[in-house]
Amino acid sequence: MASATSPLSERGDAAGGRPFRRVLLKLSGEALMGDLPYGIDRQRIESLAQEIVSVQRQGLEIALVIGAGNIVRGMEAAAAGMDRATADYAGMLATVLNSLTVQDALERHGAQTRVLSAISVAEVAEPYIRRRAIRHLEKGRIVIFAAGTGNPFFTTDTAAALRALEISAEAILMAKNGVRGVYDGDPNEDPNAEFLPELTHLQAIERGLKVMDTTALSLCMDNHLPIHVFELAEGNIERIASGERVGTLIFTP
Ligand code: UDP
Repeated sequence: MASATSPLSERGDAAGGRPFRRVLLKLSGEALMGDLPYGIDRQRIESLAQEIVSVQRQGLEIALVIGAGNIVRGMEAAAAGMDRATADYAGMLATVLNSLTVQDALERHGAQTRVLSAISVAEVAEPYIRRRAIRHLEKGRIVIFAAGTGNPFFTTDTAAALRALEISAEAILMAKNGVRGVYDGDPNEDPNAEFLPELTHLQAIERGLKVMDTTALSLCMDNHLPIHVFELAEGNIERIASGERVGTLIFTP
């Protein structure tokens, strides 16, 4: 596994002793679903919103990319006979629904937010404009990137990698539902699957570990963008934001 100096120890005080100044938090649709079989778990959203707002108030700039696996996944719909590109557009629209729900919860907890969509939905969200996104972050707003990359055949993981690079985020925080981080197998199916505290992007790609898709991983690898994969349990976002090692760190020395 990766053994060289981790990016956390290389980085200085980005923001008052904190390791990061700006991060991109990726929330999968599953993360919003909690223990439900489908849709949105209100309680989960409330506690998530509370934690995100609290971390942001401590001076961290946060952008979010939100998935839609709790509503529709293009590949699954295509497997059931739907045209793939149409299914993917439906998936992207579903991320807009999730984004508006999270926006609402964040604002009820006192945050200022903006949803920036890669697909034009002018009545409910601003169009994605990179410089505008950065400006919003500088002004202390939480930015939610909706509709993924705006293109079919991609995922919101790739959108997370792309937007993180575009806004010069120092890391992707990848929240997982019910798993501690990255394992060398599926911990839900293989009781011997081993937890990996750190690994390189290349190791994750070569070993086919189910962290994020390979397009997203290779984008992060090529641009030396670290990924913190962790369980979406209360307090974990805060812990990572304050420099604590939680879950798995994927980086390229
Ligand atoms: N999607 C897409 N292009 C993108 C991002 C998402 O076509 O850039 C579609 C795709 O069908 C995907 C769905 O939106 O399955 C929901 O996103 P994703 O599966 O990444 O959600 P998550 O697994 O994070 O909940």
